Amino acid sequence: MSDIWSEALEGLEPRLGAQTFDLWLRPIALRKVEDDRLHLTAPSRFMKEWFENHYLGVVLDEIRAREGRAFKVEIEVLSAEEPREIVPASAARTRALEPTPAPAPTAVAAPAPAAPVQVLAQRPRAEAPNLSPRYRFESFIHGASNELAASAAWAVAQEPGARFNPLFIYGGVGLGKTHLLHAVGHYLHATRPELRITLQSAERFMNEFITSVRANAFDEFRRRYRDECDVLLIDDIQFIAGRDRTMDEFFHVFNALYEAGKQIVVTADRVPADMQGMEDRLTSRLNWGLVADVKAPDLETRVAILRQKAESDRIEISDAVTLHIATLIRSNVRELEGALVRVSTFAALKGVPITAEFASSVLGDQATPESSAPLTIEAIQKAVANHFSVRIADLKGPRRHKGIARPRMIAMYLARQMTTASFPEIGLRFGGKDHSTVINACKRIDALQAHEPELAASVQALRSLLSGSMASA
Ligand code: ADP
Ligand code: MG
Repeated sequence: MSDIWSEALEGLEPRLGAQTFDLWLRPIALRKVEDDRLHLTAPSRFMKEWFENHYLGVVLDEIRAREGRAFKVEIEVLSAEEPREIVPASAARTRALEPTPAPAPTAVAAPAPAAPVQVLAQRPRAEAPNLSPRYRFESFIHGASNELAASAAWAVAQEPGARFNPLFIYGGVGLGKTHLLHAVGHYLHATRPELRITLQSAERFMNEFITSVRANAFDEFRRRYRDECDVLLIDDIQFIAGRDRTMDEFFHVFNALYEAGKQIVVTADRVPADMQGMEDRLTSRLNWGLVADVKAPDLETRVAILRQKAESDRIEISDAVTLHIATLIRSNVRELEGALVRVSTFAALKGVPITAEFASSVLGDQATPESSAPLTIEAIQKAVANHFSVRIADLKGPRRHKGIARPRMIAMYLARQMTTASFPEIGLRFGGKDHSTVINACKRIDALQAHEPELAASVQALRSLLSGSMASA
């Protein structure tokens, strides 16, 4: 009889995607069926509410379609915790695993942390963390492009140290990583004021570390990041890649906090494996918990973000113009917000109403044409081969003749600058060259441009050609 449940879930898995499925549906279990009532269990109140708000509807539809009749559900929470009560994370974890032993997919390699987030009842309110007041969950718009990262950040804010540790959020510039990081900080500070929260960019982390070593004040640094920290939020970790001593120190900080069951959230512009110069042992730790991405928002999400921004900044703008701007600016949220501000500022200066034509005239050179697909390495190779009258096969081949080596290096350089491809990936697309060849090519072209105006002009011409209407002359 309990097969009603497993069959329905099986049917849903391909539709929801394995990751979402493992995170949110697998932990919900069927205890028994009574007439038209399914008795379910959830490992925590948070999981119950999340399931009810996001997935219960689709699951019930699926069951109705399969069984030909409707069911009601009752969900029992297995842990007795109250929402604001501090539950030792280790207990929450054991309970979470009771109904279904399958852990979250990306968490398999992680050894269980030894101790929970320890909070002493009498501990005073911690100092307010250094947070931007605008970056809260309330002002973060959900969409398909950021759903996994946003829901994981929310889960971490509900149950720090318990389920996704570390949480690693990655994606391109201006897509909401820093916003989510601060949102976790705000939420935890508001709901658990005794937790000591440290939010820092990786760059500041490095500077503080170096300064503390020079000034013989390392003990203080250590206290701040290891002993007196309950939640560590680090922005743009890619910054420390290749900086050996800082990586080493971060490794120790990570271990100390992780072993004490403290929550760690890290953001970066790419996945751990793609960070050139990042130590393997760090890369592996960053993969222990959940790795979630943020992508460029779709049209619907861009419209919602613009609406919210217009409302909070009290900008009067019609739905038609909002849609128009969302269609013009597609790259990232920061540019989208900037576009709205530019349009409204210009309109105010000129004393004219904001119309679609006016928005187009202000944003003209910034707009991304609707048809433009992301630039590929193949397109770059083709353009470079044309420009220098060499064959694409030669760009990918081994010849070191200057007439070919130069165009090849330029093509690699442009591939690195204009696409999101990593060094190893670019090497692969150039006939399987080593990533160090690509790194050297990029360095060479960077340096040569300063001394060789002709080469600099070629690079600039190719860049303009490839970026099409986005080209800034
Ligand atoms: P990143 O750290 O990924 O480069 P940020 O978090 O700094 O990007 O986001 C850039 C700007 O866009 C910020 O002002 C942020 O508030 C806003 N933003 C990004 N994503 C969203 C979203 N989903 N909803 C609302 N605002 C967003
Ligand atoms: Mg950021």
